[in-house]
Amino acid sequence: MLFLWQEEIAMKIAKRQCKICHKWFSPNPRTYQSQRCCSNTECQRKRKARTKKNWWKKNPGYNKDRKVTIRCWLQAHPDYWREYRKAHPDYVRKDSKRRCNKYRQEKLSAKQDLIREISVGKLKSIKEIRPDSSAKQDPIQRRQNGIIDYLYWKESSAKQDVIDNQVCNRQ
Ligand SMILES: [Zn+2]
Repeated sequence: MLFLWQEEIAMKIAKRQCKICHKWFSPNPRTYQSQRCCSNTECQRKRKARTKKNWWKKNPGYNKDRKVTIRCWLQAHPDYWREYRKAHPDYVRKDSKRRCNKYRQEKLSAKQDLIREISVGKLKSIKEIRPDSSAKQDPIQRRQNGIIDYLYWKESSAKQDVIDNQVCNRQ
């Protein structure tokens, strides 16, 4: 009975144009006053994302305030973390792995930056080799040697990266 009654109202409610896909849809009789989007999954996803974005725009200090509140609370309860960690060994394991991964990631990206910088320097010096009467080797040979040295160095540093990557996963 209830179902039929809802259907009847739904038919009476005028169709509306979806704010996102602009197709016409029949609003749900229970929410028709506020419903602005159709029930299409993609439209619902976009609508939720918009609502979220607007909420953060309206509450800019929320995250900061929350962090301050939590920090104050933790200062007042110094045993909380110790007790929590004691009671949640799984959390401790996951957390230390997360910290390890984060640290490794930071180290890795710093190292990659350094390798890139050294690479550029090495390639530049190979590029800049010019005929020089005082040098023992001719410029082509010096360039060749430079390229071989560079490739060898590059492979060794890539191998070191693989070794560094394995450290965290052993835990
Ligand atoms: Zn839609």
